[in-house]
Amino acid sequence: MDRSAIVENNLWRASSAERVNSHPLEQDISVDLAVIGGGYTGSSAALEAARRGASVALFEAETIGHGGSGRNVGLVNAGLWLPPDDVIATLGEGAGHRLIAELSEGPAKVFGLIEREGIDCEATRNGTLHLAHAPRGLTDLQNRATQGQRLGAPIQLLDRAETIRRTGSEAFHGALFDPRAGTVQPLAYCRGLARAAGQAGAQLFENTPVTALSRQPDHWQIAANGRTVRAKALLLATNGYHRDITSPFAPRCVPVHYSQFATAPLPAALRDKILPGGEGCWDTALVMSSIRIDKAGRLIVGGMGDSTGPYAPLHRSWGRRKLRRLFPELANIPFEHGWSGRIAMTGDHIPKVVAFGPSTYAIFGYSGRGISPGTVFGTTAAEALLDNRPDALPIPVLEGYSERFTAAKGAWYEFGASLFHGLPT
Ligand SMILES: Cc1cc2nc3c(=O)[nH]c(=O)nc-3n(C[C@H](O)[C@H](O)[C@H](O)COP(=O)(O)OP(=O)(O)OC[C@H]3O[C@@H](n4cnc5c(N)ncnc54)[C@H](O)[C@@H]3O)c2cc1C
Repeated sequence: MDRSAIVENNLWRASSAERVNSHPLEQDISVDLAVIGGGYTGSSAALEAARRGASVALFEAETIGHGGSGRNVGLVNAGLWLPPDDVIATLGEGAGHRLIAELSEGPAKVFGLIEREGIDCEATRNGTLHLAHAPRGLTDLQNRATQGQRLGAPIQLLDRAETIRRTGSEAFHGALFDPRAGTVQPLAYCRGLARAAGQAGAQLFENTPVTALSRQPDHWQIAANGRTVRAKALLLATNGYHRDITSPFAPRCVPVHYSQFATAPLPAALRDKILPGGEGCWDTALVMSSIRIDKAGRLIVGGMGDSTGPYAPLHRSWGRRKLRRLFPELANIPFEHGWSGRIAMTGDHIPKVVAFGPSTYAIFGYSGRGISPGTVFGTTAAEALLDNRPDALPIPVLEGYSERFTAAKGAWYEFGASLFHGLPT
């Protein structure tokens, strides 16, 4: 059973101000670009293609934002999870510097699109705080600060006192502040991209799983909902929520689960004390956790692990203990929402673009950093496919990619998170 099908109480579904008008595919069609998957990658590609005047159709197996794009923390970061030196060591000087530079502009692109398209998604550009969970976490942040500042990033290391003032919690030893970043209501942002794509002329088909795709002499042939689609170009944007498709290629990533729990809206006096600046936060722990506030003033605590899986009780009770430890004054405030999602992790934590045939890309593996990167990769993929310009993409294109033992590695992450969450917090 697809665990994502288990009914959860996802805050983002309950509070999204954006809606999408669409229906399932009911007839055969021909388009310039077919996009499979309605997350940030697919929706931003559809938007860009439609604005360029191309005929574009987006096929989503469930509803827009069903995957990672409707379940995440909503941190709009200016780069990958890897520190810059690791990105350069993995990709090489030229490609590494280019990817870092393009992703550092990612939040500006996201917030620019939100403004241009009038997306109603609780956009807050007050920066993010990477929080030192322990003294060794501060050393990690100092290294990241040195590396980032060397490349011109306007990031700033904060001491313990300032971190306490900004978070309202005494649990942290310092923080790295990134003023380029911010937060969004992640599902509303995704729906807004798709809604804007539709308004620009893209055809959106929800509840339309693609079941097969094949290369014909001069086009791609796609089977969906018992209908046939002809497309000059194809973008496979199914990422970590890929469903079986008879296809020459399927993305392979390690599934790493991450769950979130949202309180009832905090009373005004506590809102003035807890994250008063509205920064989105995550920490330096190996088994990472996150905190942020939404527009209604709910505090959202997140941590690795699957709150719909076999170790769900451990993760849920960890959520409560974590809340109490960070903010003792919230000990009795109830959680009203809880949900989880699957992060698509690659072995080197770098996203992949694979050209598995003519005029096609599969894009996947943002490794927990997909809001800005997904927007940048999706937008540039449309440009690359329509203009036949692979160099428009911020990363070199691969001809193939494989990842071994993904299920076993995913189970190992889940087991580790469960062990950790079983320990006293
Ligand atoms: C819990 C969690 C927290 C995260 N936190 C953050 C964060 O704070 N900041 C950040 O930047 N990133 C974060 N991420 C990562 C980010 O959410 C993802 O990288 C991003 O959403 C990926 O977008 P996508 O469009 O590539 O894929 P997805 O959003 O996963 O979309 C893929 C879509 O393809 C559809 N699909 C699959 N198969 C088919 C098919 N056969 N036919 C049609 N449709 C199909 C799926 O239903 C799905 O809707 C987090 C991820 C998770 C899970």
